[in-house]
Amino acid sequence: MKDAPNILWLEEIRKNDLPSVGGKGASLGEMSSIGLPVPKAYVVTAQAFRRFLVETGLEESLYSILEGLDVDDNSALESAAAKAQDLIMSVPIPDHMIADIKSAYARMGEGSVVAVRSSATAEDLPDASFAGQQETFLNILGEDDVIEAVQKCWASLYGARAVYYRSKQGFDDRSVNIAVVIQQLIFSEKAGVLFTSHPVTGESLTIIEGSWGLGEAVVSGSVSPDNYVFDQSKQKVVDTIIASKETEIIPDGRKGTKEVPISEKRKNARVLSEKEIGRLAALGKLSEDHYGTPQDIEWGIVGDDVYILQSRPITTIKPASSSQKKADASTGSGKILIEGQGASPGIATGRVAIIQSVKDSGSVKEGDILVAKMTNPDMVPAMRRVKGIITDEGGMTCHAAIVSRELGTPAVVGTKKATSTLKDGQIVTIDGDKGIVYEGEVQKAHEDTPTVVQAGSAPIVTATLVKVNVSLPEAAQRAAATGADGVGLLRIEHLILGLNRTPQWFIANNKEEEFIAELYEGIKTILDAFPGKPVWVRTLDAPTDEFRNMEGGEDEPIEHNPMLGWRGIRRDLGAPEQFRLQIEAFKRLWKSGYENLGLMFPLVNHPREFIQAKELLRGWGVPVESVTLGIMVEVPSSAIMIDEFIQAGIKFASFGTNDLVQYTLAVDRNNEHVASMYEPTHPAVLRLIDYAIRRCRAAGVECSICGQAGSDPKMVAWLVEHGIRSVSANIDAVQAIREAAARTEKRMVLDMAFSKGGNEGERFF
Ligand code: PEP
Ligand code: MG
Repeated sequence: MKDAPNILWLEEIRKNDLPSVGGKGASLGEMSSIGLPVPKAYVVTAQAFRRFLVETGLEESLYSILEGLDVDDNSALESAAAKAQDLIMSVPIPDHMIADIKSAYARMGEGSVVAVRSSATAEDLPDASFAGQQETFLNILGEDDVIEAVQKCWASLYGARAVYYRSKQGFDDRSVNIAVVIQQLIFSEKAGVLFTSHPVTGESLTIIEGSWGLGEAVVSGSVSPDNYVFDQSKQKVVDTIIASKETEIIPDGRKGTKEVPISEKRKNARVLSEKEIGRLAALGKLSEDHYGTPQDIEWGIVGDDVYILQSRPITTIKPASSSQKKADASTGSGKILIEGQGASPGIATGRVAIIQSVKDSGSVKEGDILVAKMTNPDMVPAMRRVKGIITDEGGMTCHAAIVSRELGTPAVVGTKKATSTLKDGQIVTIDGDKGIVYEGEVQKAHEDTPTVVQAGSAPIVTATLVKVNVSLPEAAQRAAATGADGVGLLRIEHLILGLNRTPQWFIANNKEEEFIAELYEGIKTILDAFPGKPVWVRTLDAPTDEFRNMEGGEDEPIEHNPMLGWRGIRRDLGAPEQFRLQIEAFKRLWKSGYENLGLMFPLVNHPREFIQAKELLRGWGVPVESVTLGIMVEVPSSAIMIDEFIQAGIKFASFGTNDLVQYTLAVDRNNEHVASMYEPTHPAVLRLIDYAIRRCRAAGVECSICGQAGSDPKMVAWLVEHGIRSVSANIDAVQAIREAAARTEKRMVLDMAFSKGGNEGERFF
């Protein structure tokens, strides 16, 4: 689309035209192509913007303002952004472009009132990540005002927030473009949003929120809308909540909008009829079927006409898990402020304490709700004090998720905007099952209790060993109380990073003994809680970005993608002095009689790494043939080469699916923008696991799982069916996993008794 014209009409646009029309433009074109009632629109293309820069000679002066800018210097950022925007506004748009924009506007019809919306895009990325960074102008009438609004949209590409964001995300300003959508404004009498499926559980329920006036009131959250639930399978409305709607947003004369109070009579009146709900639900279904994934849709109604204004995928749906059983723990009343992924179950109410970096963590008080972009290991002391945790970034396997599950602290991660939406001191309630943050204190239907085997209840016996993941010594007793058959993963980085100094710091400061003693004590506490049961301890797996904040971390290499960088066993092999310190602690534990301690190496990608590690251990005096050494299967290569690993002498293998999924599917596990693509049950992942299980079984090597997927009962049922005999789950999931394993084992026995056979090959629930 290099030579795209200045103007494209919606009818000419499909989703692949994103580089020319931005994410918003492409989505509108696609929606109209499948017959959704989208208001008439045309797009001033990204190429038109480029032409504007070139033909007016602005390009180089614009980029020179931004080049070398330190975006962390707030006043420099503000002044550069203002200069860049003034520059864009200072020159007239070339005549031929004005003529194109005006003649398209004329084709919209006499006296058309339009919305002028930015639709930014990068060369290689949809504009989703830039959503809300650029301007939108509503209620624009007349060709001159349209031209002015287009130019203002272009200028908004260089707003301070947008420049800051792009710089932090590593985007080159030269590669970022902006298109502008000019769309007939719908003077909605009623409007709102709808989710084609339940936004958290994924059930086939269409949830519709609606209020009076323009949809901005519902989208921005300035009004509490009516809420309707339409059951797609029963084809009827199953729930209706009529809210008290205080204000509405309406067009303001000739330009812009205003918020006005709603009359007493309309305030409590029902917004949507049953028929309208049915029509909206049907349009939602059409969109969901077309895109093949649940959609978040903006809609408006004028008289009898229904319009669809926007449709984009919902990214918050998470696979059903044991924790969903407790999903009704809140009444759901109270305004929803933000949503993300429910990463650690439970409900908590408290005062918001936002921290930008560990330096602010002193302001976090006992019982607060900690809000951060992302948590770091050095924030663990603050995480211990709080009642709940909310992050902007991350998914179910990020640092915040792992640590909060161990601490038993409810957490919602990947909300995208908690730090910018929530206010310090504000009271919120978080629901760590559903991934929802409510305003104020939300009443609980029942108290949430951690899942433990109740004293007196008959324990379920399974042939499958159900182990637990635990790394923080303070969680050892809670973990043991689950009745788990051992520890399937002890991540020592949580012990080391909690010291807030890198191993290199201890070496450089001659404090090696201190390091070894800390490690020894931390692991011993957990071993003591599991006498006679296997405890698999993993050697250090800390990415460089986690080390950097710590004392001694100043020299950590800056890596473009730490997930693919200097972490796991490759780091220990490259820096044997830090490896040796860890091994010294393990040696002392073995010597103290903890024969149940097994050691596993993370992120191995070739058997030679295992052999090399083993030889180093031998050299340091470890009787490598008699201790239990194993590997994490986290890289596809280690699953594919499992036979060679077995030959090299591994005694066990444990699937680290958090990494195995990201490396098999090329989906960063910590990146909320691709969270919906992070799919532990992807056939390719299952095929790798199935293969490795079969090879391990044939060789009599114990095979287990310790990634987050091991806490999903459905996944565990599949694993047991496919021959796994050991799994390891989070503390809160052990009981549900035990039940899932027991049920599956019984079914397999019954199937065998009725000679149905057991192996369904690739089938997954
Ligand atoms: C995994 O990758 O599944 C795993 C358990 O390791 P971590 O989450 O610590 O990378
Ligand atoms: Mg891993």
